[in-house]
Amino acid sequence: MGYVDGLKCRECNREYQVDPIYVCEFCFGPLEVVYDYNKVKRALTRKSIEERETNLWRYKELLPIDGAPQAGLKSGFTPLIKANNLARELGIKELYIKDDTVMHPTLSFKDRVVSVAITKAIEFGFDTVACASTGNLANSVSAHGAKAGLKRFVFIPSTLEPSKIVASIVYEPNLVAIDGNYDEVNRLCSEIANKYNWAFVNINIRPFYAEGSKTQAFEIVEQLGWKSPDNVVVPCASGSLLTKVWKAFKEFKEIGILNEIETKVFAAQATGCSPISTAIKQGTDVIRPVKPSTIAKSLAIGNPADGFYVTQIVKESGGYGEDVSDEEIVDGIKLLAKTEGVFGETAGGVVIATTKKLIEQGRIGKDETTVVCITGNGLKTQEVLTGKTAEVHNIKPNFDAFEEILKKIRD
Ligand SMILES: *Cc1c(COP(=O)(O)O)cnc(C)c1O
Ligand SMILES: [Zn+2]
Repeated sequence: MGYVDGLKCRECNREYQVDPIYVCEFCFGPLEVVYDYNKVKRALTRKSIEERETNLWRYKELLPIDGAPQAGLKSGFTPLIKANNLARELGIKELYIKDDTVMHPTLSFKDRVVSVAITKAIEFGFDTVACASTGNLANSVSAHGAKAGLKRFVFIPSTLEPSKIVASIVYEPNLVAIDGNYDEVNRLCSEIANKYNWAFVNINIRPFYAEGSKTQAFEIVEQLGWKSPDNVVVPCASGSLLTKVWKAFKEFKEIGILNEIETKVFAAQATGCSPISTAIKQGTDVIRPVKPSTIAKSLAIGNPADGFYVTQIVKESGGYGEDVSDEEIVDGIKLLAKTEGVFGETAGGVVIATTKKLIEQGRIGKDETTVVCITGNGLKTQEVLTGKTAEVHNIKPNFDAFEEILKKIRD
């Protein structure tokens, strides 16, 4: 059997058995997976990890499954790129890109959470998986569910980027596009989840699903030579990824893999949907829901479930939260591409532009080690660059035409 002790309410600490449940019956707090860390410690060491295959399951004792992994066997262990060109551009010494635009079947970090959720859904005996999505989650549930032979119901706002819709429908899930924003989609899905016995990966399976995000931070620590960075910049939609990055550092310390955590955690949002960074900047932990209006659709959650916990972690770690305009997001995408050869989606643009701001504010030190999380691939949000890229040189198929354009380029 696995290494999980059970579920625990984050608010009142009441304990529950492992079941497809997600809220505390007594205080309505969110449930979280707890492990038998003494048992984990004996199995999971730097050495045992290093001997394993390079995928997200190499930390499996800290993932909430009992049997063998059923999805994502080739997903994860994404590159940690030393970003010297971008560092120079931003005026800092040591910068790394955690590049989740690659090494995942649907090209975003959502393959981490979905690999765990699908495995758990199969263990629970569900025959149908479902989700409420801002785009990437829909892609991932559609793909992994197909491979696992599960029925799939995937719910999205109808205004998503065309490429993200194609990247779901190609796997032939039951794709339901709703005339409303993500928060409305999510509310409807909660009602549906009450009636149908489906594994909604980010509703009734959420405690298990969310654990998959930890693998991104486990990898960062391992790839830095078993150290946590001074700073990590994480994009926030519901805030789940950020809370799990922090949980991952803590767990590695708990089992003796990390000696110290001296990481400041920074939350990055788009100004057009910034309930979390706004609360942080105002010094409050009260999240005021907003109506999203931004090109960063993957982060467009106006009422973020884990927003409160993000404010706590940012405070505890000494980090901060910032947000950037749509124009800055596009500039961030282009800057990352032209300096490091990495094409991130809008969420990546949010992270790069936010990092730039935090460096300018002096909140990220010039001599510190900083990791930025680029969570999804730019090929899925190409439309935001329409009319905003450099010029394409169109010529006739003859040498003179080339010479002419070359002269123009060189002038
Ligand atoms: C879902 C998503 C996130 C973060 O989501 P959380 O709900 O905060 O965990 C970040 N980047 C991309 C590209 C995403 O799709
Ligand atoms: Zn409770």
